[in-house]
Amino acid sequence: MALRSEDLGFIAASLADIAIVAYIFFRIILLIRGTRAVQLVKGIALLLLATPVAGWLHLVATHWLLQTVQVMLVVALPVVFQPELRRALEQLGRGRLFTRSLLDLGKADQEQVLGEVAGAAFLLARRRVGALLVLERETGLREYVESGVRLDARVSAELIRSIFEPNTPLHDGAVIIRGNRLAAAACFLPFPDRGEVARELGSRHRAALGVTDHSDALAVVVSEETGRVSLAQGGVLTRDLDEAALRQRLDEAFRGRKG
Ligand code: ATP
Ligand code: MG
Repeated sequence: MALRSEDLGFIAASLADIAIVAYIFFRIILLIRGTRAVQLVKGIALLLLATPVAGWLHLVATHWLLQTVQVMLVVALPVVFQPELRRALEQLGRGRLFTRSLLDLGKADQEQVLGEVAGAAFLLARRRVGALLVLERETGLREYVESGVRLDARVSAELIRSIFEPNTPLHDGAVIIRGNRLAAAACFLPFPDRGEVARELGSRHRAALGVTDHSDALAVVVSEETGRVSLAQGGVLTRDLDEAALRQRLDEAFRGRKG
């Protein structure tokens, strides 16, 4: 049976349709991965699946209840998530919903940023100035960036050193680096959910464990007490690195998809 040109047009349109929807879902998953919206989306997906199943099994009361909850959600969600939704729409408007990660930069740019970060960390360590630097990878760290002071400046060792200078307004908290920009300073990071953190670790080190436990980011910690530099990744802290070891670990973590 020969395909007519209308059929071919229909098939092409359907394929494009499926590709667009798949792409939108993919971006949404990337966007919410590692944020508190994940649990919520899982819950809604479960509800959407359970409702037709209940109807199909003739569970009349359950079906009624699930449907009622769905209607309530339609009203409640925009109210509960109003701040998040507003922010997402604002970012969409600025065309910055999908900012480039450090992972997407070319090798030369990546090495420059990682070199400035490692250099600054060891300069601070020698002077016993405490610091906490978070390097964003794929998981968006928007909620932590927004807890601090937005800077959106080029990453440089000098800027990092000035930020952590004691008794200055921005020194307290974490710096978040996104792509080749220093996105924000004085950010508040989450603590790990799990209890089994070494006793002697203070809140700066715990915050580094927390943020890397909740996301795929890396966190460089400079201890003000010991002058040691540690790296947190995946909720695990590697303590007392020297500059070459830190550089090597950072390079490995960001070794490009772009080469
Ligand atoms: P250090 O070895 O440098 O003393 P520590 O792990 O013992 O580090 P603390 O002395 O408890 O940590 O914390 C000191 C600093 O860590 C705080 O002044 C603050 O700047 C930073 N800090 C603590 N908690 C957080 C957090 N949740 N998010 C970001 N920064 C934090
Ligand atoms: Mg301390």
